[in-house]
Amino acid sequence: YQAKRDRTGVEVYESKRDSNTPDRLGLLGDLRRALDAHEVELHYQPKVGFDGQVAGLEALVRWVHPERGKVPPDEFIAIAESSGLMPHLTEYVLETALEQVARWRAQGLFVPVAVNVSPRDVHTPGFAGAVAARLARHGVPAGALQLEITEHVLLEDPQRAADTLAGLAGHGVKMSLDDFGTGYSSLVHLRRLPVSELKIDRSFVARLAVDTEDAEIVRCTVDLAHSLGLLVVAEGVEDDETWERLRDLGCDAVQGWLVAAAMPPEETTAWLRARGSRGWQRPAAALPATT
Ligand code: C2E
Ligand code: MG
Ligand code: MG
Ligand code: MG
Repeated sequence: YQAKRDRTGVEVYESKRDSNTPDRLGLLGDLRRALDAHEVELHYQPKVGFDGQVAGLEALVRWVHPERGKVPPDEFIAIAESSGLMPHLTEYVLETALEQVARWRAQGLFVPVAVNVSPRDVHTPGFAGAVAARLARHGVPAGALQLEITEHVLLEDPQRAADTLAGLAGHGVKMSLDDFGTGYSSLVHLRRLPVSELKIDRSFVARLAVDTEDAEIVRCTVDLAHSLGLLVVAEGVEDDETWERLRDLGCDAVQGWLVAAAMPPEETTAWLRARGSRGWQRPAAALPATT
């Protein structure tokens, strides 16, 4: 089991984190069935530039369990990772996302979609080739797919991970480094990973407007990324002030509830159509001046 130290230094048993509890095993079986029954859905959250242009969408899994209701992705992804179900979940997500991308393209909506992949996937032999084959099967160009990875891909077998990512890059798939700043020795990783985008973790963005240290961390991250030729996206942007700070710091795009939460496919289509070529408009920009 995994133990966690509380503040007194005493180890506390956490049943939630035990990978073999009947609860987790039950959930794992339910997830397997839900995937087979296509009960797991993808929602899409926009990434927008400061000019309002939609830079892309991120696919996020949503699972409504028949008895438990919504199960948070963090929870069932951890279960899928530790049980060997992860490759199956990723295939399902890639398949569903590419079907949707192809459908949108047929409707004249050429928006790239980002799919989150886990370290497990990157270590699955043949992963890069399988992704390329899937793109070809859906008639979707590689540039319309982005994969979001985290620094954790380099924890286990850095060489193999680097080879897989190089293979994906060779096929023209763009990669984004998610949750940046939460991993370890990030600078070394940045050099080794063939990513074109860096996403600043929400934990640094959330208090940006009120915490000067967080603001400095974000400023340095933006400068570092730009000097390496990477685009920078801030996640978890919830208010106007944070949006403005990020724009002033030179960030390239934002994602967050200020713009839109993740939406079901039909709602995403309507959202994309409503913005048209005008792009997303900040609510505050539409308000009359008050001074
Ligand atoms: P992530 O990739 O870093 O995704 C961002 C998370 O922040 C999402 O949570 C999103 O709904 C949430 N979020 C977006 N904007 C805001 C905001 O303004 N405020 C706040 N408080 N939260 C915001 P979600 O959907 O619960 O996903 C959690 C994590 O689960 C994701 O983090 C990702 O690591 C993982 N995940 C989600 N879908 C997939 C998937 O298809 N495959 C894999 N391997 N992992 C996935
Ligand atoms: Mg992500
Ligand atoms: Mg993230
Ligand atoms: Mg995150």
